[in-house]
Amino acid sequence: MIEANFKYMRFLFKFMSDLQSIYKVLEDSKAVYGTTKIKSNFIFPNARSALIFGFPIPRAVLKSTKPLHNYWRTANLLYRHLDTLAVKIALILEEDSYDSLPIFGCFPFRVTGMYEYAGFVDLIRLATKCGLGKISKSSMLINPEYGTRLILAGVLTEAKLEEIKKSPGNGCPEDCYECINACPAKALEPYSIDVKRCIRTQSFSPLFVHLLKSENRELSPSEIEILQHVAVIDDHNWYMCIECTAKCPRNL
Ligand code: SF4
Ligand code: SF4
Repeated sequence: MIEANFKYMRFLFKFMSDLQSIYKVLEDSKAVYGTTKIKSNFIFPNARSALIFGFPIPRAVLKSTKPLHNYWRTANLLYRHLDTLAVKIALILEEDSYDSLPIFGCFPFRVTGMYEYAGFVDLIRLATKCGLGKISKSSMLINPEYGTRLILAGVLTEAKLEEIKKSPGNGCPEDCYECINACPAKALEPYSIDVKRCIRTQSFSPLFVHLLKSENRELSPSEIEILQHVAVIDDHNWYMCIECTAKCPRNL
């Protein structure tokens, strides 16, 4: 009995100290983060908690005279950094006997039709549950410190993490409509986005189109999905518009 108690205490101590080092890594790298309990998730039904974290696009990227060019490369690097962190955190938790699934910043997601993409996990909703912000009028997360320029990733874990809730701020000012007015696709209404319209304007990849055209047969949906992921999303080279983010006064 004493031996079992001792073993459990040792396990608990290691788990707690691993958690502290995970949070320290996030804090040291200037990430915002929080945790929340979750009931179930189809992609990982055993998950009991979510750890959600994000990094901001630096303000000057949006203020620069070439915001799109700078955004493309910055997002590309941030997604890779976030995804690597998500894998590392999942492995640390796994070592503590809690299976954990990295949830990447952007892909994989399902391509359900022309301009129709669906993520497996709603990171924005989970981020609001962690108090990282509120839903903005542009349907992104609006964080009290970083506005809508946070890029998010996370980990779903079997561990029942103690909840870390941040203060979500006040959300969008009532009288601000900058993002809606700036959208060239007219895809935004307050708190709602026509995703198809946005993607049609926001995303275009000459490389993907070239690869599609180079095939002399009709590709299956899963082949198209693979092509999209490899040729477009993995490199995040498809941004044609970031107007709603670039014009948000909370980002500047
Ligand atoms: S990314 Fe561009 S097209 Fe999409 S909602 Fe924002 S402003 Fe509109
Ligand atoms: S531009 Fe204004 S309304 Fe739109 S997300 Fe930013 S603060 Fe909210």
